[in-house]
Amino acid sequence: MSSDNTTISRVEPAPRSDTSSAAPHDAATRIDRERMLFQGVEQPFVHDRAAVDVALHAGEVLVRIDLATICGSDAHTFHGRRPGLVPSVLGHEAVGTVVAVGDDRPRSLVGRRVTWTLVDTCGRCRPCTEWGIPQKCESLFKYGHAGLDDTHGLDGCFASHIVLRAGTTVVEVPDALADSTVVPANCALATMVAVVEKVPAGADRVLIQGAGLLGIYGAALLRSRGVREVWISDAVASRLDLAAEFGAHGVLARETERFADHSFDAVIEVAGVAKVVHDGIRLLRPGGTYVLAGLVHPDSLLDIKGVDLIAGCITMVGVHNYAARHLREAVDFLTVHEYPWELLVSPPLPLARLDDAFAETNTRDWLRVAVRPD
Ligand SMILES: [Zn+2]
Ligand SMILES: [Zn+2]
Repeated sequence: MSSDNTTISRVEPAPRSDTSSAAPHDAATRIDRERMLFQGVEQPFVHDRAAVDVALHAGEVLVRIDLATICGSDAHTFHGRRPGLVPSVLGHEAVGTVVAVGDDRPRSLVGRRVTWTLVDTCGRCRPCTEWGIPQKCESLFKYGHAGLDDTHGLDGCFASHIVLRAGTTVVEVPDALADSTVVPANCALATMVAVVEKVPAGADRVLIQGAGLLGIYGAALLRSRGVREVWISDAVASRLDLAAEFGAHGVLARETERFADHSFDAVIEVAGVAKVVHDGIRLLRPGGTYVLAGLVHPDSLLDIKGVDLIAGCITMVGVHNYAARHLREAVDFLTVHEYPWELLVSPPLPLARLDDAFAETNTRDWLRVAVRPD
């Protein structure tokens, strides 16, 4: 899809300078800082509130968080399925309003509603430049995954504010998009834009394995680019009903055997379950493409034969996170295409009730549970 017909303006980060040695730009901005501090696996969050002065370095952007959502990876950290620093501020999916900017960022950003890349990158290393995978930057910083020994202690989204670093791309959000529509754009949706990009042009029938938020976005993205038939498989029947609202046919995961061999031009794995891959290979036509994006846990051994890949002339590709252009495309996509986005994100709980919000994710009533600072 083209972005030429939108009026979204973009703000490119300046190449990163060493902010640790740079002098603060401005008079400090006084904020009422509210943070929910992660204390360890399944421990109650500690509500930390204080008036603090934030002095921005060159390239930094102070953003007030308007709405944040609990991503699956936050839940994995909370439940101990992935390592997390203690204490820290989790959360990386959010939308907010710019409060102040450091040097090298346009002043016109102040007051604008924005989203941002969930990683900060150097813009100079080979992954950032030659390889086109800045999400693998050699000096990568990931919001919502840092300890508190940082300059501002505002690196996660389960807080009133966040300080974006100099190598972070900031994307303005059009007024027409509700906070609840745009809030997962900087993780789930932008990731799926990168995933769907790997599905070759001309694919006519695509199967998505997994009807979580990634799968639902994948269905909408594929349908919108003209894929005639999108199927989505999941073990949970209610998720298939939701997928239908986003243009996909649903099939229970245990019933994909009803498809004949070689039924699909491409298969996308966002289930996070290694055993689905064997079936995915069977279902790919000769020359088909398999995109893996959900199997991020370390014990994701695959039960497949090399000969099946070779004899099937299968292209298998992994996608992890995304580049800045995918986030821009994600915001464009939300602006141009109407789907019932309100079905995906819960009404917000107050940030101070983050414990309740994490408990709510276990009910699986919503694909994303939202929190809003005071
Ligand atoms: Zn995420
Ligand atoms: Zn880099």
